[in-house]
Amino acid sequence: MIYLDNAATTKPSVSAFERATEYVTEKFHNPSGMYNEGFALQGELKKARSVLLSKLADESAFELIFTSCGTESDNQAIFSFAKRGNAVTTEGEHSAVTAAVTELKNRGIIEARFAPLQKDGRVDVNALLAMVDEKTSFVSVMHVNNEIGAINDVNAIAKLVKQKNPRVIFHCDGVQAYGKIPYKLSKDVDLYAVSAHKIGGLKGVGALIKRKSLQLPPYIYGGGQEAGRRSGTENVFGIMQFRYAVEEKFSTLKTDYERLKGYREQLWGALDKEVYIRLSSEEGTPYILSVSARGLRGEILLHMANDKGLIVGTGSACSSNAKHRYSKVILACGYDEKTADGVLRLSFSPQTTEEEILQAAAILNEIGRDLAKKMK
Ligand code: PLP
Repeated sequence: MIYLDNAATTKPSVSAFERATEYVTEKFHNPSGMYNEGFALQGELKKARSVLLSKLADESAFELIFTSCGTESDNQAIFSFAKRGNAVTTEGEHSAVTAAVTELKNRGIIEARFAPLQKDGRVDVNALLAMVDEKTSFVSVMHVNNEIGAINDVNAIAKLVKQKNPRVIFHCDGVQAYGKIPYKLSKDVDLYAVSAHKIGGLKGVGALIKRKSLQLPPYIYGGGQEAGRRSGTENVFGIMQFRYAVEEKFSTLKTDYERLKGYREQLWGALDKEVYIRLSSEEGTPYILSVSARGLRGEILLHMANDKGLIVGTGSACSSNAKHRYSKVILACGYDEKTADGVLRLSFSPQTTEEEILQAAAILNEIGRDLAKKMK
């Protein structure tokens, strides 16, 4: 089976998994335990925290809180800081951000503002800035879009936002960027969400990175873990496996980036242009190539590809539900419903091979031509 749905999740790193096994077999204790084994685990969690953080930020200015996933990290940022006035975000965000902001709007706590996208999926920065005013308490802009792969220059955007209103808390959903895109957090970004399973970690492990000077109110209350900011016994095994996966992923970040950029272009080059149009721009992440078989249904192509041994994603969040048939993000980029209906998202990992890329192209061409013939 050729797996090109790595933006949904990646295969966990087996070597990271093996290195972390001792945290199940021997070091299984509760890190809050008041005995030596508990203290030792606290020390190891501290080290893991530092490894994850050091890849992205200046450790003297930022700190990291473990969470259960990227969705929780986004929710914690939003529910902790979007508390008054208005919150500005983009039409490209993952539902982890849009649904949380919409919930606060529905509760009557904030006014929600969604900035439009450009054709390539990046936010229209001028439109976003026009929405920021003296009543804006919170701004959230994603780093890499999970559907089309556009990369927002979040450091530059955060700087412009702060120039307009220095009191704004700026959050960034970095789930599709961490470990994949060369990047360091600037002092203008206050919060940054990451998730383990997009880079060889396990599902159910995430982190929220925050500027140290920012007081983070808890979102989950209980035993006071994570210095009182996120209660719940830490998933020690998941965190340690994430740590080792991060060490592996960052050690090859630049070479993976260049190689996958080549593969993405090779795949696009091999696709039949009579069937597919390209949605992802060349400036986007090398990890995602979004295309549309205009006039055909992406969901049907997904199943046909699956039967031929190829796993891909589509652009729609939940295509069995007519309400969500078309991806809001693809429509927000200015594409029509026909284009949105035919979207296939092809997403890669460092394990993706050139041979798989060429085989995938052959399968996609075959099924696209077949379905087009049937539709005539
Ligand atoms: N944000 C983005 C951009 C994503 O792509 C995803 C997952 O697809 C999430 C947030 C949610 O992350 P998790 O699956 O860890 O909850």
